[in-house]
Amino acid sequence: MVKHVIPESYREALIHLRDGDFHIVAGGTDIMLKYRNEADLPPKFDRDVLYILNLDELKYIQSEAHVWRIGALTSYEMLLDHPDLPEVFKAAWLDIGGPGLRHVATLAGNIANASPAADGIMPLYLYDAQVVLESCGGSRTVPIEAVITGPKQTAIASHEMIREIIIPKHPFNVTQWLKVGTRKADAISKVSFCGAAHVEPGVIHELRFTLGSVAPTVIRARDIEGSLKGLLISELKTKTAFVLNAYSERIQPIDDQRSNKHYRHQVALNLIEDFMTQLIKEG
Ligand SMILES: Cc1cc2nc3c(=O)[nH]c(=O)nc-3n(C[C@H](O)[C@H](O)[C@H](O)COP(=O)(O)OP(=O)(O)OC[C@H]3O[C@@H](n4cnc5c(N)ncnc54)[C@H](O)[C@@H]3O)c2cc1C
Repeated sequence: MVKHVIPESYREALIHLRDGDFHIVAGGTDIMLKYRNEADLPPKFDRDVLYILNLDELKYIQSEAHVWRIGALTSYEMLLDHPDLPEVFKAAWLDIGGPGLRHVATLAGNIANASPAADGIMPLYLYDAQVVLESCGGSRTVPIEAVITGPKQTAIASHEMIREIIIPKHPFNVTQWLKVGTRKADAISKVSFCGAAHVEPGVIHELRFTLGSVAPTVIRARDIEGSLKGLLISELKTKTAFVLNAYSERIQPIDDQRSNKHYRHQVALNLIEDFMTQLIKEG
């Protein structure tokens, strides 16, 4: 029989993780499905379970001079209600499940679940977010790319948990989130896209893209982005073919029940091209 533990404090949760071997349950919207059982039977967990959703200490959004700090148990609805989190984040989070789910599900759960089709993490890559992993032994701050190491794989040790997510503030003045799914709501992404640009006046200071569901982890190509820095908007058109070719080599989609790799590949390229075209048009 597995043990079910509801710690009264964050400190107590960390002690349990130090002394035992637990599945963490936050909102439970991924993990409860993973271990679901037949109707009317409790989930089939193979390890003890630590339920942390009651830990109000980890429900916060702090806006500091250069970063936002998001506590691991902050729900998507709390994030959507926050007045100054960037629109590109909110657009992505609003496409996750329905309102009921968004009241319990967490961004930390989206990170630790490490699905190649996760939507919530897409703008985290765009903004160079960092994840604070903590244990009784201390904490370490790790870039999002180093936390998610592959499909369903993370660098989070069994005695650690995500404590908070740190999002640097950026002066992007054009952003976009697009999710391609089978239907408008409650769909798993076939392809997802985030774009962000800091353009002023007519010069590209920064142009970033992230692509989801088209590789084992989110694609962000800093080398390609670097080649676009400092260009005049009027020069961007001449770079489009180069950018699409360069991303084409990195996009490695798979066939699955939702879509096929050829469709995913082409749609991902179209989304990049559309964003670049929009920038060129808006000057
Ligand atoms: C109907 C439905 C629709 C959905 N739609 C979408 C969608 O459109 N887009 C999308 O991206 N996802 C979607 N999801 C998946 C899910 O809702 C999200 O991934 C959500 O962010 C998971 O958060 P959670 O708090 O529920 O995680 P949980 O299920 O509690 O946990 C998920 C994983 O993270 C680990 N974990 C949780 N918190 C921590 C922590 N603080 N430290 C370390 N490990 C931790 C758990 O051990 C588990 O392995 C959907 C799910 C359902 C059921």
